[in-house]
Amino acid sequence: MQTDISPKISIEENLLKSAQTYFIEQVLPQAALLDRDTKALKQAFQGMGDRGLLGLNVPQQWGGKGVSELTYRRFQILVARYSGALAFLQTQHQGAVSKLISSPNAPLKQTYLPLMATGETLVGVGFSQLRRQGKPLMQAIPVKGGYRLTGEVPWITGWGIFEEFIIGATLPTSESLYGMVPFQEETGLSFSQPMELAVMGVTNTVSATLTDWFLPSDRLVSLHPPGTVQENDRKNVLHHGFFALGCAQAGLDILKQAYQRKTLPFLSQVLDSLTEEVTRCTETMLGSLSSKRVPYEKRLQLRGWAINLAQRCTQGAVTASSGGANFLSHPAQRVYREALVFTVLGQTTEIMEETLNQLR
Ligand SMILES: Cc1cc2nc3c(=O)[nH]c(=O)nc-3n(C[C@H](O)[C@H](O)[C@H](O)COP(=O)(O)OP(=O)(O)OC[C@H]3O[C@@H](n4cnc5c(N)ncnc54)[C@H](O)[C@@H]3O)c2cc1C
Repeated sequence: MQTDISPKISIEENLLKSAQTYFIEQVLPQAALLDRDTKALKQAFQGMGDRGLLGLNVPQQWGGKGVSELTYRRFQILVARYSGALAFLQTQHQGAVSKLISSPNAPLKQTYLPLMATGETLVGVGFSQLRRQGKPLMQAIPVKGGYRLTGEVPWITGWGIFEEFIIGATLPTSESLYGMVPFQEETGLSFSQPMELAVMGVTNTVSATLTDWFLPSDRLVSLHPPGTVQENDRKNVLHHGFFALGCAQAGLDILKQAYQRKTLPFLSQVLDSLTEEVTRCTETMLGSLSSKRVPYEKRLQLRGWAINLAQRCTQGAVTASSGGANFLSHPAQRVYREALVFTVLGQTTEIMEETLNQLR
């Protein structure tokens, strides 16, 4: 992904515009359905692939659009504004894309990236266990021709949607390993039933158990020195915050509709004040993408602010929608639940602390 504001700016603006048109015309009207029907969600996801939106951050040499980081983060806000489930599902696939982009395994990249950019091949991720402290949940032992993996993956989204996933495991040297694993049962590899979740259940999240499962060397995505996960979490602390901003914006859209129906002056005052704050937070976050220019502590505080705004704007949407917000089909309760997931997605201890501190 390029980090400069490139001369291709108008092409990128057009890409964002066409993404927004797709989300407004085809995703938003069925956002409630996408929240509960996996088949419909998969179709909408495929619609993103058909429009090149799954390859935004894939370099052009691998068949993607190779957009600037600024454009990519604006896209994240957009998708979360119109459907949290779609944003959540596609981010797992995009997470796998990012891991492959930085992989030294050229044949694996060549095989997967062009197909992942169009959505012809769909890949998820299961590496949040690398953030856990203490004995590694998923261990990898080097053997002839590859690695033997044993342990648990607590979260993998996309059962029945993704064909494979990139696993994270810890080596005896404390290095971390990423590798391609089939997302279907076989000897030494089993999955739970999709979890019953209050939100994003539609994305079919499961856990996996691996017992002495063999990962051949040619399926190895990458190896990283100890501490890389924590280092990346700090470097990328803003990233999931863009979904929280999109969720906040979705809350504001509902608040605005409530004002148009009820015309109560205080609704407009709250709407104006929250809109101003979301705009300020968005501009500051988009201006703080470089970890070299903006210190970690400042970016951590911004992530907490975005989460806090998602929580407040969706609470505003519920309150302004009154009792109707309790209907399962009502958008206010959907975005309220989505705020829950965007609060904990990619959470580290420091993000948890910052999120809680901003509630005081
Ligand atoms: C619906 C859903 C789907 C998801 N899908 C995926 C997926 O497809 N792929 C994926 O990789 N992840 C996925 N996740 C994981 C998601 O990113 C995690 O929510 C996030 O990483 C936090 O992990 P956790 O909830 O397991 O909490 P934990 O990892 O247990 O805790 C979060 C942080 O707190 C720290 N912590 C926990 N316990 C202690 C303790 N006792 N002492 C000190 N520090 C502690 C941890 O070290 C960690 O930094 C999903 C999550 C949800 C809710």
